[in-house]
Amino acid sequence: MTDTTEMQPILNHWVDGAEYPSSSGRTAPVYDPAQGVVTKQVALADQAEIDAAVASAKAAFPGWRDTSITKRQQVLFSFRELLASRKAELAEILTSEHGKVLSDAMGEITRGLEVVELATGFPHLIKGEYSENVSTGVDVYSLRQPLGVVGVISPFNFPAMVPMWFFPIAIAAGNTVVLKPSEKDPSAANWLAALFSEAGLPDGVLNVLHGDKVAVDGLLEHRDVKSISFVGSTPIAQYIYETAAKNGKRVQALGGAKNHMLVLPDADLDLTADAAINAGFGSAGERCMAISVVVAVEPVADELIEKITQRMKGLKTGDGRRNCDMGPLVTEAHRDKVAGYIDIAATDGATVVVDGRGIEVDGAAEGFWLGPTLLDNVPVTSRAYTEEIFGPVLSVVRVGSYEEGVALINDGAFGNGTAIFTNDGGAARRFQNEIEVGMIGINVPIPVPVAYYSFGGFKDSIFGSNKAYGVHGFDFFTREKAVTSRWLDPSHGGINLGFPQN
Ligand code: NAD
Repeated sequence: MTDTTEMQPILNHWVDGAEYPSSSGRTAPVYDPAQGVVTKQVALADQAEIDAAVASAKAAFPGWRDTSITKRQQVLFSFRELLASRKAELAEILTSEHGKVLSDAMGEITRGLEVVELATGFPHLIKGEYSENVSTGVDVYSLRQPLGVVGVISPFNFPAMVPMWFFPIAIAAGNTVVLKPSEKDPSAANWLAALFSEAGLPDGVLNVLHGDKVAVDGLLEHRDVKSISFVGSTPIAQYIYETAAKNGKRVQALGGAKNHMLVLPDADLDLTADAAINAGFGSAGERCMAISVVVAVEPVADELIEKITQRMKGLKTGDGRRNCDMGPLVTEAHRDKVAGYIDIAATDGATVVVDGRGIEVDGAAEGFWLGPTLLDNVPVTSRAYTEEIFGPVLSVVRVGSYEEGVALINDGAFGNGTAIFTNDGGAARRFQNEIEVGMIGINVPIPVPVAYYSFGGFKDSIFGSNKAYGVHGFDFFTREKAVTSRWLDPSHGGINLGFPQN
């Protein structure tokens, strides 16, 4: 086969408000997963390029930090307007590199836009406090100031939304950013950075550094990078948390997930089946808030499986630009890994109720396809149950009682999202109290918090306690100074080595 790598366009870094050509000599292929072909190469940064991106952000920091709140707000408002009016353009980019269907890509952008809208209200969220006369003539107050250069490292599954969980808030608060997006679908980051420039963001405030582990490690170890915001798989999240902490950085590190939906016998099973389909197969299951396990409290399992199976027959898998319900997986390797879990489950004793392998699709034969798959009676000792699959594979586990279901969920390694489906308010209330999971849905399958709450799970789904966006986001991207101030009055003097007592 001819190597066409040299003929493919290169996606370069975005530094200092302009495209920054890479000279590292290293690139990675970017696929159109519905076509199964490489469409471009993305630059992979070397140390000189990491240093250039951080230097640009560092140089831009003093000016941006000292830009008035009103002016910063105006730039954010312009960015919001531009993004809202050009969403469809970005959605095309997302679908062409990630594979998710266009309507879902639009949904992703809308959720990111909500964080931009929250960020426009930042003046209220970075106010300090003031206490007058803590001692006679002494006032104490706090200042909330930006950190400096902050690093954001994002996963492939939300190439626009996850970066927007962080950079609008970081920038609103006066920081400057180096964003390292996933190398699998990197173009959205450049598009967003160029749009922010068009909105009036000064050069160097938002930089995009493309790369792999070299770029990530470069940011983790760089003296001038003050914090790291990471979203990705659990092993890498743990590595980021430990390495960033070792290097003295503030860090938020969100990891993988395995989300359960507990279905009580009194639930509305039509509503529940719709929810299981939407949350299990939307974005081909490549969502950290996807439902991957239905925990059915008997006797509902047979009827629920029947309703889910019926609905699965109507799902159309294919090219995300062709009005399908579900697109391909992001890469061939990922598709094969996900399909491998169907074999693992079957070998371990699960029943494959619907097998998504080899289905007919509305798309190119070379695309990275795997159709919606339903597994029943998945043993909780199987790797298909204990590990994150991150694909369109929905497992059913049958339990005898509410208590057994809750114990099962609480025993799991992850704690990102969960949902209960029931008509019993008392049971739902008890669930929200007892469950060891950070984000809970009550008859809502994907309980991603709105922008003014914060996003984050428990256990192996997060390292440390710093959640994304909302008030937590502003806390993360600011540091507080406490000032104790006294303006001398001639009557108040003298030497006293003790703490003041009045
Ligand atoms: P990933 O961990 O493979 O990659 C995430 C980022 O880390 C990418 O930018 C990648 O370049 C970088 N990276 C990968 N390997 C690295 C290494 N060895 N050293 C340093 N950096 C490395 O994750 P992914 O496959 O892109 O995304 C899917 C994962 O993200 C899933 O596990 C999903 O659950 C998780 N996720 C979690 C959330 C959340 O909010 N908790 C949200 C979205 C996705």
